[in-house]
Amino acid sequence: MSKRQKLWAAKVRETLRIRLGWICRECGETSGLEFDCITPTGHAHHRLSTDQRATFYRRQMAVGNLQLLCADCHAAKSAHEQGPLGATASDRLPPP
Ligand SMILES: [Zn+2]
Repeated sequence: MSKRQKLWAAKVRETLRIRLGWICRECGETSGLEFDCITPTGHAHHRLSTDQRATFYRRQMAVGNLQLLCADCHAAKSAHEQGPLGATASDRLPPP
């Protein structure tokens, strides 16, 4: 990936954080924030490159499915989502 793509991805993520208020939606934390899909979309996007992931998050934002969580709240939510049924069904969806 080129330096330009990396810069672009960083810019996209910053813009999204600003639009989401730069705050954890659960507890109000403002540091160590991570993007979270409100409705779980599986973990396929974690294997994408940085710029592909930026596009993915931007698309989630466009459909109102993106929020910010701090690392603690994100871990708690993920643990809850990975129940007995897990998020494996959505992992089988074709890439966007
Ligand atoms: Zn939090």
